[in-house]
Amino acid sequence: MNGGGQLALILLPTLQCNAACSYCFERRTRDRLSLEGLRVLIERVLEYMAGRRLASLAIYWQGGEAMLLPPEWYDAAGELIGEAAAARAIEVRHLLQSNLLAYGREWNPVIERMFGNCIGSSLDYPNLHRQLRGRSPAHYDVLWRRKLDEARAAGIRVEVISLPNEATLAIGAGRFYEHLVDELGLDQIQINTPFPGGAADDPGRTIDERHHAELLRFHQDLAAIWLERGREQGVRIAPFDALLDHFSDRPAALPCFWGDNCVDRLIAIDARGHVAQCDCWVTSHPDYRFGNLFASATLAELLDGSAARRQFGERPIHLARRACIDCEYLALCHGGCPIRTFAFHGRLTETDPYCALYKALFRQMEDAAVGLARQAVAGRLAAQQSPISALA
Ligand code: SF4
Ligand code: SF4
Ligand code: SF4
Repeated sequence: MNGGGQLALILLPTLQCNAACSYCFERRTRDRLSLEGLRVLIERVLEYMAGRRLASLAIYWQGGEAMLLPPEWYDAAGELIGEAAAARAIEVRHLLQSNLLAYGREWNPVIERMFGNCIGSSLDYPNLHRQLRGRSPAHYDVLWRRKLDEARAAGIRVEVISLPNEATLAIGAGRFYEHLVDELGLDQIQINTPFPGGAADDPGRTIDERHHAELLRFHQDLAAIWLERGREQGVRIAPFDALLDHFSDRPAALPCFWGDNCVDRLIAIDARGHVAQCDCWVTSHPDYRFGNLFASATLAELLDGSAARRQFGERPIHLARRACIDCEYLALCHGGCPIRTFAFHGRLTETDPYCALYKALFRQMEDAAVGLARQAVAGRLAAQQSPISALA
């Protein structure tokens, strides 16, 4: 029998993409995972999970662009994985991350069956970097918006990840919120902090260190707007919502960089079988790959034997004893994200470059949670003391 643990697998079944974003750090290639390759891959992942008594698997399908494989491929993949997982009594959840450009109505059945009628996409506002080869970001926006409307007309829910850039900071959090929530009607948004990916000469840098103070203020302003306007209307903005849950003692879906150690919860595998910590590493940092699944007898052997993976595992312990030792939020943050740290410092043994931003957000959401708890208590007391409740 399996225990209760979970594993998140970021699976890149194709490294091709139909876009050419100027900040992309993926090493895009023509490689695609065959169904036979998927059969081997998933069997090794499930075997590993059974050995670790892990009961549930969340597969995040990404690319390149995941929708460049046809819907029939996903139908067959879903069936194949479902049968293999059922044989080991492991529960599987599929999540699709796509730029939406290849979406058409032929996708609707598999999106409903396999992905719970939901697609995760990316939307930057204003858009400076997302584009097709030789075309402008404005052209990309028109295409994306059309696909958003088509998907919604088919009853598909679209959630977005957004990466602030210099233009986002210039318009400010109020205009950003207004566009995404009021104009586009999005109610599930994740804000990511940018970092340069890949080799030193890669163009992944969207905001450099000079803008970190502005980025901090943007996050604080957006969190304040969400607390005031969005929260009670059912709008979720990550990571603010998760932090509020955390400081309110509710179960919280915290992002991977605020866990005890992302190495225990997550792996990425690309179309060639390369295994790494996550999608940020697997194609763009070959030196930090853990190994190749197709060249290893088992996933356990690959992971346990990886010197690169040991460095990830040791990072939070190293930081807890040194740079983060006095931090009041250590038990929440654990030193932050390895890829952001590596991208800015060139090594893993430093604190996350967004340390100041995290601390400011932690304080803001902790204060908000305390304020909301006080309001709730005051509300209950007032109700008990009102003449109506006294008569009841
Ligand atoms: S950022 Fe994503 S959508 Fe853009 S080119 Fe890279 S893989 Fe494609
Ligand atoms: S390296 Fe950062 S983004 Fe990747 S899994 Fe770890 S915490 Fe998450
Ligand atoms: S907030 Fe900063 S000091 Fe505190 S644990 Fe995170 S990285 Fe370390």
